[in-house]
Amino acid sequence: MTSAPVSNSTAHWRHLDAEHHLHPFSNTKSLNAEGVRVITHAEGSYVYDSEGNKILDGMSGLWCSQVGHGRHEIVDAISDQLKKLDYYNTFFKTTHPAATELAAAIAEVAPKGMKRVFFTSGGSEAVDTVIRMVRHYWASMGKPEKHIFIARRNAYHGSTVGGASLGGMKPMHAQGGLPIPGIIHVQQPYWWAEGGDMTPEEFGLHAAREVARAIDEAGPENVGAFIGEPIQGAGGVIIPPSTYWPEVQKICRERNVLIVSDEVICGFGRTGEWFGCQYMGVEPDLITFAKGVTSGYFPLGGVIMGERMAEGFIEHGGEFNHGYTYSGHPGGCAAALANLRLMQRENLIGRVKSDIGPYLQERWLKLGDHPLVGEARMIGLIGALELTPDKAKRAKFAQEEGTVGLLCRDFSFREGLVMRAVRDSMILAPPFTLSKQEADELADTALRVLDLTYAELKARDWLKSA
Ligand SMILES: *Cc1c(COP(=O)(O)O)cnc(C)c1O
Repeated sequence: MTSAPVSNSTAHWRHLDAEHHLHPFSNTKSLNAEGVRVITHAEGSYVYDSEGNKILDGMSGLWCSQVGHGRHEIVDAISDQLKKLDYYNTFFKTTHPAATELAAAIAEVAPKGMKRVFFTSGGSEAVDTVIRMVRHYWASMGKPEKHIFIARRNAYHGSTVGGASLGGMKPMHAQGGLPIPGIIHVQQPYWWAEGGDMTPEEFGLHAAREVARAIDEAGPENVGAFIGEPIQGAGGVIIPPSTYWPEVQKICRERNVLIVSDEVICGFGRTGEWFGCQYMGVEPDLITFAKGVTSGYFPLGGVIMGERMAEGFIEHGGEFNHGYTYSGHPGGCAAALANLRLMQRENLIGRVKSDIGPYLQERWLKLGDHPLVGEARMIGLIGALELTPDKAKRAKFAQEEGTVGLLCRDFSFREGLVMRAVRDSMILAPPFTLSKQEADELADTALRVLDLTYAELKARDWLKSA
């Protein structure tokens, strides 16, 4: 037995955490040495820590809180549901009212012709489901050799073996012997870092043609699907040039390759449309979702299947040997239903599209004038700032990649704003309920944080290009 401080204090929780809690995507040794931040409660656009700090939640938790924190009507819906039916499975010729109603509610807001929903507990499971669905579909259609997936480098599709394999994160592939076979990773549509002398529009076409090249090299008869996030989230809020997605769609259609839109972040309003593919002008065959579908009040994810694919899948697929104990958990379904109703009643997606979205975008894009910012970008309520020592050259810092980003993130936390650092860019995705006053506070704080970071870099003589 270890002796822990007994009061409900930061020291007490830090002690327990350091002794017993292994954190996701964390270096336990350095985290324990530094001491973890303890978030004790949340309300609206803010989270509060055990030291009494009030912090503007610029990341919606982890891209989840579309409707903001502390919405009791969702909590009550979960509680009412669990009192009535805490759990039952959806495997053996059974269902329950909340699962049926949620599937229908999602079909109602999904892109045209997408009306069948498979439930999972989160995004990674949804992505794994896609791997099995696509391969089973093509096998059922008499084309079992169409098993290869085309994905992008620096994509994020979750942390399960399948999800991390489809993802293009090198540090993830480096642990656990990934990726699994049958996946080809191609160039991402990241103009700022990889566009060279091309215009963004030229580069969008160039990156799309990399998809064509990969399919043709593998042979279209061997390729089952292309998967991409409409906007890469965890990779650094990478908004593709407008030419990219339409060209990718054309390429995939011509080669009879299915399109999977991983909407775990973009889905349910983040771009100002219900789904990011609608913003990008693409009609996918499969959509994965999670996160914002419940605003994070309960874990739930899933896959929406389009009719083109559903016909063959249902007619010729037989039994699909796949499912999760918590596929369609009553609590998750109740949370999602209440969340969707709330978004509709308060017209929150309309607000992202034509009210708070444009309002914050205007202030955010102005941060692009700061000497440290090479590019400020934002669509709907998802954005990024590229930090650079030399705007004109779109240069990287001489310091190891990520050093400056972390410095900036620490200033941001200290100043009361959650921004996340990805490499040396700062990313943002606030709740849809953000008020204009909060948007002003957000932009003012971000500017202050940039000034602090800039001064610190100057003092350290770190404003040098690699
Ligand atoms: C977060 C995320 C996932 C994984 O979802 P989990 O719920 O964490 O398993 C998959 N794809 C994208 C695009 C994501 O952002």
